[in-house]
Amino acid sequence: MSTSRYLESGSLTLQPGEDGTFIVDPLCCGVHKADGSVDRTAVIRKLTPRVRVRLAEPSAQNDNLEAGNILLRESLVEVGGEKPTGSVLDRLYNGDRDLIQMAARQISMGNTVTYQPVTCPGCRGRYHPVITIDNMEVFRVNPDEVEAITDPAGNPALGFRVESAEHEIEAVVRFSQGRDQKAVEKVRRNFVAALHRMICECVHSFRFRGEEIEHRGAALQAWVESPAGVPMDAWDWLTEEIMDHQPGPDLVNFMACPDCGRRELLDLGASDFLVPTPRGRRR
Ligand SMILES: [Zn+2]
Repeated sequence: MSTSRYLESGSLTLQPGEDGTFIVDPLCCGVHKADGSVDRTAVIRKLTPRVRVRLAEPSAQNDNLEAGNILLRESLVEVGGEKPTGSVLDRLYNGDRDLIQMAARQISMGNTVTYQPVTCPGCRGRYHPVITIDNMEVFRVNPDEVEAITDPAGNPALGFRVESAEHEIEAVVRFSQGRDQKAVEKVRRNFVAALHRMICECVHSFRFRGEEIEHRGAALQAWVESPAGVPMDAWDWLTEEIMDHQPGPDLVNFMACPDCGRRELLDLGASDFLVPTPRGRRR
């Protein structure tokens, strides 16, 4: 990931709160308040073994969004001064959802996260990707540079502008939120399809070859994929711009093969990765 004027690089910052809680401050994006301001704090508490039982239920095992919501509900006391209701979690930015989950993991189970072993597609070697939460680079939005937008439902949101004269694209893109994962859920095991769907969900306004394109979400996807749509090289440019500008902890950079250095984008499975089940010491 490259940094840009929209993002600032840092790390997870936690302070002790009242009654054994911890305060995550600042969040990567924050929560929009009714008065138009953005509150960038979350209050979290330690997870209990209950979270593991809830994550093992079939509804969570087959649904990344639900697994993330369980972790967030179990750990969040409040975010942006609000209780973690369904609509608050739907509109929480994915970068903040990831950051809060990592913070809850750190205060509950320690600083080192060991992933299930993977086979490197480069050298075929087996390794356990390991993350040290304190060392994770965290990208937060620069509030002076991002754009305040209003989504089609009338909700305030944060976005950023991308332009390319070469590809004749001008777009404003909303940072991805929990609700975008609902659109992606059906295709989430297909990374290419899921990424393409997510990009289409997050495009807030789009001009191509000087014309305003009115389609959004699934309709934008259908238009992009039509012969009249956007050439692949132009769409790939937009996709890379959007990927480069996502706030949140940078998980990808820590998933490198120790033998050949190849980096892999791994699915952040909440139950296996963040809250592993004890399996006994003899294994
Ligand atoms: Zn390798």
